[in-house]
Formats: sequence, C-alpha cells, structure tokens
Amino acid sequence: MCELRNNINESIPEAQEALEKWEQAQSLYERVMATWSLVRLIGIYLLVEKIQQDDLLLSPGVCPGCKGRLESKGKKPRSVRTFLGNIQWKRKVYRCPQKCSVGQIAPSDQHLQIHPGQKSCRSIKEFACMLAISLPYELSSTLLGLLTGVQVCPQTIWNWVQEAGKLAMLRLEAELDNINQEEAWKRPLCEDLKTQLLTIGGDGVMVPMRPEAGSPKGKTVWREVKVGLVAWLKKQTSKTGKHYLRPIQREVVAVLGDIEQFKPRLWLAALNQGILKAKRAVWLSDGGRGFWGVYSEYIASYATGILDFYHVAQNLCKGAKAWLDGRTNKAKDWFAKNRRLLRQGQSQQVLDEIQRVIALDELPEPTREIMITLYNYLDKHIEHIDYKRFKKLGFPLGSGIIESTCKWLIQQRFKGVGMRWSEEGFNHLLHLRLAWVNDTYFSLFDEEEK
Ligand SMILES: [Zn+2]
Repeated sequence: MCELRNNINESIPEAQEALEKWEQAQSLYERVMATWSLVRLIGIYLLVEKIQQDDLLLSPGVCPGCKGRLESKGKKPRSVRTFLGNIQWKRKVYRCPQKCSVGQIAPSDQHLQIHPGQKSCRSIKEFACMLAISLPYELSSTLLGLLTGVQVCPQTIWNWVQEAGKLAMLRLEAELDNINQEEAWKRPLCEDLKTQLLTIGGDGVMVPMRPEAGSPKGKTVWREVKVGLVAWLKKQTSKTGKHYLRPIQREVVAVLGDIEQFKPRLWLAALNQGILKAKRAVWLSDGGRGFWGVYSEYIASYATGILDFYHVAQNLCKGAKAWLDGRTNKAKDWFAKNRRLLRQGQSQQVLDEIQRVIALDELPEPTREIMITLYNYLDKHIEHIDYKRFKKLGFPLGSGIIESTCKWLIQQRFKGVGMRWSEEGFNHLLHLRLAWVNDTYFSLFDEEEK
C-alpha cells in the first residue's frame, strides 16, 4: 500500500487529497464515497502506468508515405476522457524527416486504437448514451459526472446519441435494401423456439414534435410513431397456478412515418425471427385499419389474425349504449350477453342480433348508423374474433403486449413534461433505444466503421 501510495502521489496530483479524505472518513457513507473516488484514481494510475510501459516496447515502424525511417520527436502528452475519469499520459511521437505529410505518428495511439483528434474513449460514450436512452440529457450528464468524475455537457451526450443513432439508421436502411426471403428460408429455427408461439403486432402512438426544425417556437405538432413487435412467447405457470405467456425472444421496430415505411421494417423483423418456419404464429391488433393492411399483405399466410378482444368489447359496449340508452340495466344485459357469446365463439349469433336491431322500424337513424358500423366491423373481422378456438389453441386474445411495448418504447422516454422533439433528434434516439432492446447496442460503438 505504501509504495503504491507514493507512486500514485507522484503521478496523479488529485490523489493526495483523495487519500487524505479516505483516511479521515468516518461514517459508512463518507467511507463509501471516499473509497469510490480513490478506487477511480488508483484505476487511472494503473491504466496510465501500463500504457506508458507498453509504449516503451513499441517500435516506430516506417513512414506510411515514403517507407523511410521515422525521426523521434520525444515524448508528448495525450489526454482522453474515459469511464475511469480524465486520463493523461506521455507517449513517444515521430515525424517523417523527409517531410511527408503524414503528421505526427504515435505508435501508442495506434496500439490503443484511438484517432489523432479523439477526445473521448468509447467507454464513456457508450455509457453516456446508455444513460440518455432512459433519462433526459441533463440528468444523464449529471449522473455521468457523479459516476466517472468527468464533466460531459448535455450537448456532447446529445451529439454522441446522434452519431450512434445515425449509424443504427444507416445499418437498418442497408438491411431493408437487402431483404432476402430465400436466405431467411434457409436459416434454421432455433430448437427451443420450435414449440413456442410467434406473436406479431403493431400499434400507433403519438409523440410531441416541434413544428419547425431548429426552433423551439410554435405550437406542438403531434405525429404518430408506428411500433411493431415480433416476439416468441412461452407458456409459463405462476406460483398461484395461473398460466401466462412470457416473451423469451423479441425484436421491436418503430418508425416515425406512414404505414408503407412500417411494412418492410416489420417484415424484416418477422423474417429475422423465423416467421417462415414458425409452426404457431398469431397477429394481434386492435381495429386500426392500416395495421390490418400490413397483416393481409405480409403476415396472413403465416399467422392467425386476432382482433383484440377488449377493443371488440368496447365497440360492443358503444352499440349497447346507443341502442338501449346509456347505463340502463337492459343495455348492461345486452352487452354482457353478446360479449359472452363472442367469448364462446358464437359470433354469428351476435351478428344476427345486431342485424335484427338494425332492421327495427322504430330505430332512430343515428343509432342505426352506429349499429351498422358495429356490424361491418365484426363482419369484416369474422375470422379474427373466433375467441373460443383461439383460447383452445393457447393464443392470447388481447393485444396488451403490443400496447405495453408502445408504452415502454415511446412513452417512457419521449413524452416527459415539456418534451418536444425535432425529427432528427427523435429518430436518432429512437433507433438507439431500438438497438438497446434488440441487443445490437454495443456494436454501434465499434470504432472500425467510422
Ligand atoms: Zn516519409
């Protein structure tokens, strides 16, 4: 300890103070905080020592221009922000004596895989963006400072998010350009998934946007983000003996755009997850017309479509209220009876009943219209409301899993008090969040691609 202490004191000026604090600390709290600071400084010390030791062993190589010998310019300082804190060290630098325009060459920098102008290490960028995925930029900056001792302003974290989010978008676009169904067909399905249920669905959620780019002024414009989920669900039994479906693998897609932009994104995820090989697959959605279009165009050949039962019940309730005057017992009974019939797979009986109501002479015209809308809605989805059969097959009857995906993907981060987004700022952060949930996050910080 004593030797380490002397060495650390010599090479890191802040260490003296941190050591004193550590020795004087009394309460557990003080000791924890002082130890944390000290551990970081010891970390920095070890890191810098090792970098400088390794530097001594590195050979300068030759000039990348003329392939001649390089000329030593001695040791020069270098500093980078890292997850351990700001670190500074000295390393050997070289120049070409023939004046080739190759700049200053530092073998140690190449060895460490850092670029000449790089101020921040991947370790801190990756972590700062991880914070910003879930928290506002201001708070991310504060937390990062507390944890690492490095002050990074919110704007810098914002820049890092843009950079990584942009890369995520570019990669997705490249994948969308190369959707290959034949290749997807050749990919084998993981053994564990073969007996599970593949669930696909989509829903829309509104987000508050700035009316014009680059300006915080003007009235908020609400735009719809379309969110899609492709998930493998496994049947589980709870402690109380209840059965439920738990996602064991999933892919989430989202787009701030129209349904045509949504389609290929969802289809790509469905192919990735093995829709072509799935033995049991369902599509879950509420009545949103655009999303059922996605189903009929892409998914219908592979999955059973299920209209969200709760949404159907809601519409049935609307019909009951219109016909039988609000909250009367008659209305309640009518609703309960028909809801039960639907649940029991007697949808034709329900349709017949609605048709009987529509044909009543004394029915007021507005009520008739509501009942006709209800009839058409159920009739159009007649194959998608066979709840008795769905239940028997172990399928979910509601699209709750899709709605909760919208909540945690969008609501949780993008709809805080006073939040308004620029299109770019929104898209970059959205794609970073998607990368996080789809397990591709860390690859966005690989340096080679930049
Ligand atoms: Zn040269």
